[in-house]
Amino acid sequence: MTTTSQELLLSRIRDVQDYPQPGVVFKDITPLLADPKAFTVLTDALTELCVRHGATKVVGLEARGFILGAPVAVRAGLGFIPVRKAGKLPGATLSQAYELEYGTAEIEIHAEDLNEGDRVMVIDDVLATGGTAEAAVELIRRGGAEVAGIAVLMELAFLAGRARLEPALRGAPLESL
Ligand code: AMP
Repeated sequence: MTTTSQELLLSRIRDVQDYPQPGVVFKDITPLLADPKAFTVLTDALTELCVRHGATKVVGLEARGFILGAPVAVRAGLGFIPVRKAGKLPGATLSQAYELEYGTAEIEIHAEDLNEGDRVMVIDDVLATGGTAEAAVELIRRGGAEVAGIAVLMELAFLAGRARLEPALRGAPLESL
């Protein structure tokens, strides 16, 4: 991705101070989604990563990973699989719990969406602590599929999500635009 494209994307991400709680700077991507040029640049870059890393399916993490992952899946000619918060998927699911700063969270995938031999690219907007992505990697492996990589728009490097994810990735790439 060119520096000009990165600058365009960066210029469309809004920092919202103290949201959803004091001390957090929320990275709001709605200005980017509202700009067709920026949204296309982002979708193209994520699609290119899917192709480069030989993905055969795309997983989007609820909720903004759905908005980014779905057009990427269509462009790359791949199936899209939603990973949702617990209790939202109607079929037989695999579930994975993970630690939050306070308490735990749980995400789920439809078991039938994954097959042996699948190479799955995980897409989300923000990598923060890496807990959600790590749980998604576990789900994909438990479903018998391989992880082609994780691709995010941005990584909050000060939270060290990359270091946390490294063992789980087992050499698969973590790409942040
Ligand atoms: P984590 O599991 O800590 O890596 O958090 C990742 C998830 O939380 C992603 O789905 C993000 O959309 C969301 N998230 C975490 N921190 C932020 C932030 N500062 N701004 C926007 N979204 C965030």
